[in-house]
Amino acid sequence: MRKEQVEELVNKVKEEVVQWRRYFHQYPELSFHEEKTAQRIADILSTFEGLIISRPLPNSVVADLEGRGEKRVAIRADIDALPIQEENEFDFASKNPGVMHACGHDGHIAVLLGTAKVLSQLRKELKGNVRFIFQPAEEMPPGGAKELVERGVLQGVDFVIGEHLWTPLPVGKVGIVYGPMMASADMFTIKIIGKGGHAALPHYTVDPIAISAEVVTNLQHIVSREIDPLEPIVVTIGRISGGTTDNVIPNVVEMAGTVRLFNPGIREEISSVMERIIKGITTAHRASYEFNFKPGYAPVINNKGVVKVVEEAVKELFGEEAIVRIKPVMGGEDFSAYLERVPGTFFFVGAGNEEKGIVHPHHHPRFNIDEKALEIAVKIFVYTTFKLLSQ
Ligand SMILES: [Zn+2]
Ligand SMILES: [Zn+2]
Repeated sequence: MRKEQVEELVNKVKEEVVQWRRYFHQYPELSFHEEKTAQRIADILSTFEGLIISRPLPNSVVADLEGRGEKRVAIRADIDALPIQEENEFDFASKNPGVMHACGHDGHIAVLLGTAKVLSQLRKELKGNVRFIFQPAEEMPPGGAKELVERGVLQGVDFVIGEHLWTPLPVGKVGIVYGPMMASADMFTIKIIGKGGHAALPHYTVDPIAISAEVVTNLQHIVSREIDPLEPIVVTIGRISGGTTDNVIPNVVEMAGTVRLFNPGIREEISSVMERIIKGITTAHRASYEFNFKPGYAPVINNKGVVKVVEEAVKELFGEEAIVRIKPVMGGEDFSAYLERVPGTFFFVGAGNEEKGIVHPHHHPRFNIDEKALEIAVKIFVYTTFKLLSQ
């Protein structure tokens, strides 16, 4: 497959891709409620030739394109929006109050539709098969990826690729990472149970506030004193509450937080390390505790061989200067549910543009993308698919 051929075909669909993005932008749906979005995706896919469409969940769509060969590449788009009131004033702003495509998943849908349209036109030249996965609920754990994987969407899949339109990166740039790219995102709650009483008679109480302060401080010792300094890790307490007034020691303090890291070995042990510290401190001070650790998304760990194929595709399409070796990010992404089973890679497609005022971060009520990024992403998906299938 020559890149000129890819460019020519993508140029023919790029206007339509923009229109799709704007349509989905107007009708965002929250995680686990993407029924209308999925239906519209299925309707559009049904106008392309050679696709076998299935609906493993009512809010998902999977489409298979059969070429000539054994290998199969899966390409994934997430399709959910966020509970945010949009503040953009363009004419395709959200028509659903309080719901907004503020992460760019509207663009992901449009990009994958464009990719499916182009590849369906090229199916006789494909040396293998392609599966297009439109996945619900990336924004809300336990996420939609895990459920789709359990329903078999990776059966017969040899490689999986996915992209995120990324406004911190200028349009025209593509961010890649060899190896760990996005962190795991586990959550926890801690309850410190003391014995309340009069603030002026602390010796008759077991003060959960003073003990909680110790717990918060000592949990940071995990990061600074128990983990290899070369292993990135975040332990954050994001919520703490206890007490009602100045002259009362409460019975209980509650906290909640998140742990972010990349190393699966450390991830396996982190909850028992945390519990050892919480138990030690509460025991020392005559209190008791409840500790609840809830695993979230696994870390996104890219397969180096597949990253290399994407890098080559981007360089051939857009030149060496388009590639940016970015640093891993501590944010989570349920694309990891696919990468845990099949070699593949996630990558960032630059979508920011300072000159056009497209500068707002993801999840901001004025979030927007430079739509030029859409055709760039389609080209990368199409060209990378050909490369992976001809390996
Ligand atoms: Zn997001
Ligand atoms: Zn996102």
